[in-house]
Amino acid sequence: MKKVLVCGAGGFIGAHMVKRLKREGCWVRGVDLKFPEFAETEADDFAVGDLRDPDFCRDIVDMRFDEVYQFAADMGGAGYVFTGENDANIMHNSALINLNMLEACHRRNTKRIFYSSSACMYPEYNQTDPDNPNLSEDSAYPAQPDSEYGWEKLFSERLYLAFHRNYGMEVRIGRYHNIFGPEGSWNDGREKAPAALCRKVAMAEDGGEIEIWGDGKQTRSFLYVDECLEATIRLTRSDWTGPVNIGSDEMVSIDELAKMIMKIAGKNLKLKHVPGPTGVRGRTSDNTLIEQKLGWRPSMPLIEGLKKTYEWINEQVQASQGRQ
Ligand code: NAD
Repeated sequence: MKKVLVCGAGGFIGAHMVKRLKREGCWVRGVDLKFPEFAETEADDFAVGDLRDPDFCRDIVDMRFDEVYQFAADMGGAGYVFTGENDANIMHNSALINLNMLEACHRRNTKRIFYSSSACMYPEYNQTDPDNPNLSEDSAYPAQPDSEYGWEKLFSERLYLAFHRNYGMEVRIGRYHNIFGPEGSWNDGREKAPAALCRKVAMAEDGGEIEIWGDGKQTRSFLYVDECLEATIRLTRSDWTGPVNIGSDEMVSIDELAKMIMKIAGKNLKLKHVPGPTGVRGRTSDNTLIEQKLGWRPSMPLIEGLKKTYEWINEQVQASQGRQ
């Protein structure tokens, strides 16, 4: 039986990954500061603790794991990473987690480790045109991420690659582009655009209005969590070491995203554009490399993933309103 360690197993992607690995029949240890918020963990073993502590990291890597998925990070949506207020914590906490986990895995001779990087490490200067951003993997340098979150991801990518070069670790690096789905942050200040917009639409009365940060013309693409897990597992088990985009290339503006959610909800709402943190003007995944190396591309249209996500967030909103 394959033994797998999932760091960040109390978070959105990590909790979904634990479920997926259990369905495959793996023995799974999850680790996080907290248990998953929205469903019971399915991990065989779950260690609650702080991965900034090197002793804790050594303790949890007390056997040789066949695969390690490293999702733990101090992160959130635009309201968390682009205001500047959390920069020190984001850089310090996430860098420590990655430094400690690599050292602990190396000591225990655990070789295969996946690292969840982000499209936020790409240079801002290639993402100024909302209709034509450049996010091919080889466009990363000269580096100029637009946030400290992106700089930490870039530093950690380099750290993982150094452990590959010097110690023969089988590191795999996925650059995630806006992963979304049920059972993620939706109202705690760390939620991302799809969850935030689903919540706003679910809470609004038909004929009312919702707020959109910025002019709504900024573009993004969004990948449903199940597709992200499939690509992540394929990459981890492949023999390709370089960083790879894991995202969708169905690019939409934030206004278009809001309109899709309104259609799902059957509500007609006005969009009120207000100042707020927005990040780069344009971003979508370039999937040329992942198709070439893994023969994989996402297959679920954005609207399908949004339906599942809206349904779940609407239930959360109704339940929370029922409690008031
Ligand atoms: P998340 O915030 O839901 O999960 C991260 C988890 O890490 C949380 O449960 C948190 O408690 C845990 N954690 C933080 N600090 C810790 C510590 N010191 N010790 C132990 N656990 C700690 O985020 P997510 O959306 O599941 O993202 C997972 C990974 O993917 C992150 O590295 C993130 O940067 C990356 N990523 C996500 C997206 C996305 O759209 N969700 C996009 C790009 C990159």
